[in-house]
Amino acid sequence: MAVPMLDLKKQHSLLREQIRAEIDKVLDSQMLVRPAAGKTSPQQAALEGSLREYCGAAEAICCSSGTDALLVALMAMGIGLGDEVICPSFTFFATAGAVARLGAKPVFVDIDERTFNISPKAIENAISDRTRAIIPVHLYGQMADMAAIMAIADKRRISVLEDAAQAIGAKQNDRPAGSFGKAGALSFYPTKNLNALGDAGAVVTTDAEFGQLVRLLCVHGDAGGYNHVRLGANFRMDEIQAAALNVKFPHLEEWHAARRAHAAIYDKELAGLDGVVTPLVAPGQQSIYNQYVIRAQRRTELIEHLRDRDIGSAVYYPKGLHEQPCFAYLGYRRGDLPVTELACREVLALPVCPEISDLQVMEVAQAVKGFYQPAKSASAQRYPRAR
Ligand SMILES: *Cc1c(COP(=O)(O)O)cnc(C)c1O
Repeated sequence: MAVPMLDLKKQHSLLREQIRAEIDKVLDSQMLVRPAAGKTSPQQAALEGSLREYCGAAEAICCSSGTDALLVALMAMGIGLGDEVICPSFTFFATAGAVARLGAKPVFVDIDERTFNISPKAIENAISDRTRAIIPVHLYGQMADMAAIMAIADKRRISVLEDAAQAIGAKQNDRPAGSFGKAGALSFYPTKNLNALGDAGAVVTTDAEFGQLVRLLCVHGDAGGYNHVRLGANFRMDEIQAAALNVKFPHLEEWHAARRAHAAIYDKELAGLDGVVTPLVAPGQQSIYNQYVIRAQRRTELIEHLRDRDIGSAVYYPKGLHEQPCFAYLGYRRGDLPVTELACREVLALPVCPEISDLQVMEVAQAVKGFYQPAKSASAQRYPRAR
């Protein structure tokens, strides 16, 4: 039985008729994008209402992507030339890309080796006179330690932008991702727990005034009638993306629950297995398991072993941003962020999407066990190598 990392075909087969009906409404309305900063379109207004409530936000603003949500939030914070922004190196490129595109300097800090999230202690050590913002990333669906990070930032009046692209609905002490900092950036990219039919994202914020500014910047700073009061850009969401997201949104909690159930199976089956470290959900944290990520010895061979059995897996991420060629000008060297570099060598995401069955998850767990304990595991006989 093949076990894919992602099965959107299955997700869409269940929701196809509903999505089509909502898209038809958009086609008939002719309102394909939001008309202007002050105006609303029905699908995006509904989605923003859902996001406000779900994320504990005063304002939610639909955007073209998670990347643009990060960028426009930093623009609204006034981040620019000469500013330093502290963020992890162990994240998707967009986190630091948005910083650098504004002429600011990403300052990369290391992570905790059990949660893979940014280390509050490392943030504190990296603060300088030029630090204007911190971007904690809620990696794989678990929030960074926002209580600790906000204490550090508030003391020095540094803005915090939560990169919640992988963490919609994750919580720390029952408080949702995106509700701690000045703002949170969400992504609805196809691999995220809530996904659109292409690119889409959103900014959520607890500061309504800040939200209005983000809204303005998303439409070239046009306050109405081609009166451009701020330098913005086109960061709009397509109305059909909002339509699809409105159909999917009511299923989000059940999808989180399925992922958590799958994660619990892996936790149990892989506990204590030599060669594997299972992921830690820290006290007070509730993960949405956008990914279930182990640390694996002999990772390349394990990936092959799984591939031979038609089991998907993925490496998020093989290289830290501090070692990316486009950031060479920042002057980082191998060895600067040892935990990040360790994670890059060892992390492996196993299939956890809600569309696969518990049986399929068991099959993956057995295959991993079979790889590390070929003699002891009964699965070695039950699942012979394909070649
Ligand atoms: C997906 C992701 C983004 C970017 O979102 P897009 O919608 O793909 O632009 C940013 N940060 C992190 C951590 C992500 O996982």
